[in-house]
Amino acid sequence: MSERGTESRQPTRDDRSLKTASTCYACDAAPTTDEHVPPRCLFPEAKNLPPGMDLRKSLITVRSCEEHNTVKSKDDEYLRLMLVMNAANNVTARAHFGNKVMSGITRRPALMNQLLEQQVAVYIQDLDADTTEKTIAVPVDMPRLDRCFELMGNALYFFHFKRHWTGTVKTIPHFIVGLDAEDRNGNDFSRQVECVVDQAVANSEQLGENPEVFSYRYRENPEPACAVVMALNFYEGSKVTILFEKAAQTIPG
Ligand SMILES: [Zn+2]
Repeated sequence: MSERGTESRQPTRDDRSLKTASTCYACDAAPTTDEHVPPRCLFPEAKNLPPGMDLRKSLITVRSCEEHNTVKSKDDEYLRLMLVMNAANNVTARAHFGNKVMSGITRRPALMNQLLEQQVAVYIQDLDADTTEKTIAVPVDMPRLDRCFELMGNALYFFHFKRHWTGTVKTIPHFIVGLDAEDRNGNDFSRQVECVVDQAVANSEQLGENPEVFSYRYRENPEPACAVVMALNFYEGSKVTILFEKAAQTIPG
C-alpha cells in the first residue's frame, strides 16, 4: 500500500468548510499548531498514574494560530486549578491535585497564595453518609473562567461542524457555587439549567475517550433559540453547560 498523503484531493465539502478547515479554530488566521480540547494539562501523565493506566487516549485536537494556543496557557493552568479543587471530583482529580497541579503551584506559588489568602472555611454536608466535611472555598475569577470555557466551546464546535460558530456562546459552570445570600438565585438557576440540559442530552452519545478526566454530550437544536447545547463533565463531577445561541431573529413587519 502506498502513502499518498500529498496528492491533490477532490473537494468533498462545501467551500466554506474547506476555507475554515485551513484556519485557526477561533479566528481567521492561518493555523501553525495543534491545540488540545480541553487543554492537555487536565489529563494526568502516565508517570503519575498506576502502571498501565492511560488517560491521554485519543485526545481531541483542532488547528490553531499561535495566539489561540500559547497565549492562553496561563488560563489553562488556572482552569485546571479550579477544576481539581472542586470537592465533588473523583479520585483521578484528587491524585492529579497531589502531583502535577501541586508541582505547578510550587513553581509559581503566587496564584495559590493569592487564592488561599482569601479562603473561607466551608462545611459540606453529605446527606447520604450523614457526615460533615470541612473544606475551603476560594474566590473565582469568573470572567477568566468563562473565557476558558467559551474558547473550549468554540473549539468543540469547530471540531464537530468544521466551521466557526459566529453566534453567542453562553457558559454555565455548575460546579461553581456562590456562598453569599445574594448568590442564592444564581445557584438555583444553575441547578435548574443543569437538570434541563441533562434531560436534553440524555439520548446523545457520551463522547471523550478518557471519561475519568473529561466526557461530553451535545445536541443540535434543543430549542428554537439555541443551535447546539453541550454538556461537559470534568473528573466525573465538575459539570459545565455551553449554549450556542442564535442571534435574535428580526421579524419583518
Ligand atoms: Zn486564532
